Amino acid sequence: MTSPSPDIKITPETPIRAPSAVPVDDAVLPFEVASLDLRGRLTRLGPALDEVLTRHDYPAPVGKLLGEAIVLTTLLGSSLKFDGRFILQTQTDGPVSFLIVDFQAPDRLRAYARFDAKRLRDGQDSGALLGHGHLAMTIDQGADMSRYQGLVALEGGNLEDAAHEYFLRSEQIPTRVRLAVGEEWRGGGDGPKHRWRAGGMLLQFLPKAPERARQADLHPGDAPDGAVTHAVAEDDAWVEGQSLIGTVEDVELIDPDLSGERLLYRLFHERGVRVFAPQTLRAQCSCSREAVSGMLKSFAPKDRAEMVKDDKVVVTCEFCSSVYQFTPHEAGVEE
Ligand SMILES: [Zn+2]
Repeated sequence: MTSPSPDIKITPETPIRAPSAVPVDDAVLPFEVASLDLRGRLTRLGPALDEVLTRHDYPAPVGKLLGEAIVLTTLLGSSLKFDGRFILQTQTDGPVSFLIVDFQAPDRLRAYARFDAKRLRDGQDSGALLGHGHLAMTIDQGADMSRYQGLVALEGGNLEDAAHEYFLRSEQIPTRVRLAVGEEWRGGGDGPKHRWRAGGMLLQFLPKAPERARQADLHPGDAPDGAVTHAVAEDDAWVEGQSLIGTVEDVELIDPDLSGERLLYRLFHERGVRVFAPQTLRAQCSCSREAVSGMLKSFAPKDRAEMVKDDKVVVTCEFCSSVYQFTPHEAGVEE
């Protein structure tokens, strides 16, 4: 994935590949700012995101929220080993009551959301769409490894807030996350064409000396009046890292004409940033006629019989909307 662009000189100090001056969509770009002990990943999503979202014709606010969840999943899941799987789910009492993003390493993405159209209002942000409930992240590293699940309460905040809460409590790694989703209209012969785009960045402070990574204490909660909470001064390098990622605008994260390398250079050039080989992403469901047939056979005979309508059994995949049709006999329904 080297760039044909002639305007970037390759020098001996250049990292392991030529920086791309041309924006590359549907990829995660790992990077490092060694002088500040920072590591991170930058996701840019174009056609793959558009494919997942337009399959369902979601109202714009729902598409945007699911897009944010997809970006967050790629930032967290792309560090998984070979055949690992990362699943992000929310279950909440807001207009979007359930959403799921399923990432299968190294590159497959699928997702869907359930929502109540009657409860959608203008101006609802991601936090209002979700409401209260929880976010679960499940990591499955293959048959021989144990499954891990992390849970975060959602209390009206957005997915960036939830990610920060997760890293503070579970991983205890100083982490900042930025997520952005936008709709792009481009002129064409048949009128303007709509496309979804998204971008996101994860930045972590990973110093060799663990005491440098100490973070301010959690809110003392029900500590008695007058209790003194520890005031931990954050490390200067992490203060600088947070202030740099804080300057990233949504429009920069989704700009189709700004390459990931240029964005990283813009942010970190004074400190020196090294970019590693990108990991590409694609929208692909893992459903199949065989898998659906196997699922039907696992149902109780009575439940199978109730699925017969007009002498057939029709199952629609919630992820990709593929329709699988079976005769009652194929579905294992007895006469
Ligand atoms: Zn499917």
